[in-house]
Amino acid sequence: MSLFSLAGRRAFVTGANTGIGQAIALALAAQGAAVTCAGRRPSDETVARIEAAGGTAQSLILDLADPMAGRDLFAGEGYSILVNNAGIIRRADSLDFSEADWDAVMDVDLKALFFTSQGFARASLDTGTLPAAIVNIASLLSFQGGIRVPAYTAAKHGVAGLTKILANEWAGRGINVNAIAPGYIATNNTAALRDDPVRSQAILDRIPAGRWGAPEDIAGTAAFLCSPAARYIHGAVLNVDGGWLAR
Ligand code: NAP
Repeated sequence: MSLFSLAGRRAFVTGANTGIGQAIALALAAQGAAVTCAGRRPSDETVARIEAAGGTAQSLILDLADPMAGRDLFAGEGYSILVNNAGIIRRADSLDFSEADWDAVMDVDLKALFFTSQGFARASLDTGTLPAAIVNIASLLSFQGGIRVPAYTAAKHGVAGLTKILANEWAGRGINVNAIAPGYIATNNTAALRDDPVRSQAILDRIPAGRWGAPEDIAGTAAFLCSPAARYIHGAVLNVDGGWLAR
């Protein structure tokens, strides 16, 4: 079998209707995985694009504003790939940041990621659907502080930490847990930054690659981390950032 093939694998991607999650779903399907595209809205466009390319996919409604909503979806379903991609960001000065925004971000970006992973791992271990892989979508703000996004920064630092502890617990049991830290990628998540010409130019000026990233720039790394080629990678947070953190 090819080092990079995902043929015969069943994958679950959260937040797959748009942006990075959509690109990852397409990439996993292109390597042969059957992909469940989960999100709070239907992933019809993603499914249609996968099917048009000859792949297999289905859309599933899953609202992770209830952070336990993903935990019990995996038993007996045969999944061996989970991509925890769904995420939200709320921007306000830390002096003004509300408890409601704090809880909303923490629930989707951190608590849901943990309990979805727990449910996936229980199912994989119960049925021996191994090897299995979890890929978490972290952020540059897993390493840096950012500005006006305190809950997001706290959650994404937490994602890096969870990636490491889950790798420690599950690496020896056949589950690879890793994360990707995307740089500045043109999606809904960064629309407010790109709409601000001063912030947008300042960001662009310090990206060594000289351009914002596209969702497709992240997708291949996710497919790689799920593949046999990455079987000895555990607990890594891979920067895919056009060189931002090297600067
Ligand atoms: P995006 O286009 O806003 O995509 C976020 C995805 O998460 C969407 O599918 C969204 O669904 C889904 N989502 C949000 N709340 C949800 C909920 N309660 N239940 C289920 N799904 C929910 O932004 P993106 O940039 O592709 O973000 C994907 C991931 O990358 C996030 O974890 C984000 O933090 C991370 N990231 C992005 C960047 C960047 O520069 N863009 C950088 C670092 C990390 P809706 O379409 O319904 O909102």
